[in-house]
Amino acid sequence: MSNSDPLIIPPKLKLSQKIYLKIFGRCKIGSVKEGWKDKIPLFAFYCNKHGIMSSLPLGSNNMLICPSCLEERKISEELAELEIQQIIDDEELIHSQQNNIIYV
Ligand SMILES: [Zn+2]
Repeated sequence: MSNSDPLIIPPKLKLSQKIYLKIFGRCKIGSVKEGWKDKIPLFAFYCNKHGIMSSLPLGSNNMLICPSCLEERKISEELAELEIQQIIDDEELIHSQQNNIIYV
């Protein structure tokens, strides 16, 4: 993703938008046009971890998901997969060592 991605840059809000955000939990700050589809509203909201972030509404209940949290979750899932792979490798090693035992 490029630095100009509106979803990654924490949005700069006007005072009126900050107040609106505080009251309503989300504040429309613009819209994003994806290809030839209709414009999708871009909302600012407050993430407990990353502060003011922006997101497109997702799903049928228009959920706003922090893109930075999502990115971190992706990374931790990839790490978890690596750890699982490591455990499998270790087990294979144990099995192969057991196979090398010669009983007399
Ligand atoms: Zn976040």
